[in-house]
Amino acid sequence: MSQARWLTPATGFLAGYTHTLNPYVGCAYGCSYCYVRRLPVALFRGEPWGEWAQPKAGDPATLARELARAKRKGPVTVFFSSVTDPYQPLEAKERLTRALLAAMADEPPDFVLLQTRGPLVTRDVDVLRRLGDRVRVSVTVESDRDDMRRALTPSAPPYAARLAALRALREAGVPTQAAVSPLLPYTPAFAAQIAAVAPRVVVDDYFRGDGSGGRRSERLGMREAYAQLGLADWYAPERLEAFVAELRERMPPDAVTVSAEGFNPPSDPQSRS
Ligand code: SF4
Repeated sequence: MSQARWLTPATGFLAGYTHTLNPYVGCAYGCSYCYVRRLPVALFRGEPWGEWAQPKAGDPATLARELARAKRKGPVTVFFSSVTDPYQPLEAKERLTRALLAAMADEPPDFVLLQTRGPLVTRDVDVLRRLGDRVRVSVTVESDRDDMRRALTPSAPPYAARLAALRALREAGVPTQAAVSPLLPYTPAFAAQIAAVAPRVVVDDYFRGDGSGGRRSERLGMREAYAQLGLADWYAPERLEAFVAELRERMPPDAVTVSAEGFNPPSDPQSRS
């Protein structure tokens, strides 16, 4: 089997991390707002983004050696994953993310943020628990309105399944957060639903989180998509501020974070979770 380099130096929005880790190329979830659509990996493929995904080649066990080498140079913090979802539908069969987490548990980095919208993450509770407070599972839940999911991310798992995954991980003692990113139109019950299942939340939107003041989201046609859905008034930065205020009525002040701050590794290793 050919040798993959699992760890990649982190840059840009993820500069708070030393490395990113992407077990798959492509992503079957195909979210309409996904910035990867405009990156070379998607543009040069010749197939529509969201209709293909494949595991990276390589022995996942070699990640432990990569981590050991990286750790000799200083603290290692990993964003897992930045340009795919580690719990693709394919992961149920491939078990590649699971094998990479097992390698991490053998040679733990200082911190790993496991970012996903796949409820399959609960399958790996046993491996996640081996990482203790060095891992945080960040589950994307952008809304509680399934009509929004069907309109903007129709291939992604239902929100109820993701809320249930957050609850199950928390009950199993795995550090978690909800990533309301990007915030989509929601019902008045949404803030309470998040507060009930997650000890921590990060909220982001098309304006703060796209790394270009909203221009990347504009180029992806999100403003037009909202207008066509009759939701033009939801395409506004004030929506995030209103939702954050609702969360802060229900959660401790330091449990509610906004944009990059909420995705960064903890500055104090003693307060990782
Ligand atoms: S799950 Fe993430 S990587 Fe996949 S299409 Fe959606 S935003 Fe892009």
